Amino acid sequence: MPIVNRFADLHPEITEWRRDIHAHPELMFDVQRTAGIVAEKLRAFGCDEVAEGIGRTGVVGLIRGRETGSGRVVGLRADMDALPIMEATGLPHASTIPGKMHACGHDGHTAMLLGAAKYLADTRNFDGAVAVIFQPAEEGGGGGREMVNDGMLDRFGVQQVFGMHNMPGLPVGQFAIRPGPLMAAADHVEIEIEGLGGHAARPHCCIDTTLVAAHMMTALQSVVARTVDPLESAVVSICSLHTAGDAFNVIPQTVTLKGTVRTLSRQVQDQVEERIATIVDHTARAFGAQARLEYRRNYPVTVNTGAEAAFAADVAASVAGEGQVDREVAPLMGAEDFSFMLEARPGAMIFTGNGDTAGVHHPAYDFNDEVIPVGCSYWAKLVETAMPVR
Ligand SMILES: [Zn+2]
Ligand SMILES: [Zn+2]
Repeated sequence: MPIVNRFADLHPEITEWRRDIHAHPELMFDVQRTAGIVAEKLRAFGCDEVAEGIGRTGVVGLIRGRETGSGRVVGLRADMDALPIMEATGLPHASTIPGKMHACGHDGHTAMLLGAAKYLADTRNFDGAVAVIFQPAEEGGGGGREMVNDGMLDRFGVQQVFGMHNMPGLPVGQFAIRPGPLMAAADHVEIEIEGLGGHAARPHCCIDTTLVAAHMMTALQSVVARTVDPLESAVVSICSLHTAGDAFNVIPQTVTLKGTVRTLSRQVQDQVEERIATIVDHTARAFGAQARLEYRRNYPVTVNTGAEAAFAADVAASVAGEGQVDREVAPLMGAEDFSFMLEARPGAMIFTGNGDTAGVHHPAYDFNDEVIPVGCSYWAKLVETAMPVR
């Protein structure tokens, strides 16, 4: 039976799993219920090994093929965590927990990988092993980093890793991917400016931190405009400006700025960080103030390796048809902590169309259940194509 038909049969069951997870969203590393369901199902499917508590609350299932002579181990990854958003879909399966919501489709990613695991454990039509990886804390907590640091890839001998994320706006049944950088590095910037507070009518006796902050914010916009090569990509966004006071007639002693930097290469990232440090220091000093910069690198650039991206695109084309795969999609400036797995192993992340839905992280978003057979078929086909039984 062709894989796609097989998942047409499993579609209602996997949809039920997805909606149950959707109704019970959990944040960051606190995904105990979801991880428990995942581990329980993996055992019920007959996975050869099921390991819990990896990278705090991550789960890995290992499924050996009918043959294992190839020695190959392919890792497939899904994320399990939700977001601190109040859901506004009004759907029957909407979140039962106020202020928490699966607004990025990780409920769908988890359900689809479970569906693929069920099929793979049932059929075992491959030569090697597959590690199904369920990670916590994708939304800013670095759950992928924690699982890699916990030795997960070495422990299961994973040689290649593949990820998948839904994409609203892309029609259901279509895929998008590219070799090289797919998503950006996301860095945190925090700047504390210290001047000399005092009476607003006596500015000559003060060092005005709000004026320093205004000049600094303006100058920081020159980093992308005048330092980064126009053919490269970078974002500098200062999103929060907080002064020590809120009186109309007091010059505040301190001002804090917060923002984010997005880049698609290590070289540009280094360049932007260095320029920000120079601008912050020199602008403060030009006005007689002092500034302290905290520049924290969080998720690195998500980079698809060339061979694995081409392979993933071929698999997607075999599932959806060649015309349904965009092999050179433009990179996104959002970040993804699958990047930590891709720093450790060759692999590729692919986008799958979620259709005409609200965007991810929007209160009206819902994962599109019509994607389930497509996504599951992609995972199953990937494994059977990567490790064919001779
Ligand atoms: Zn998200
Ligand atoms: Zn996401």
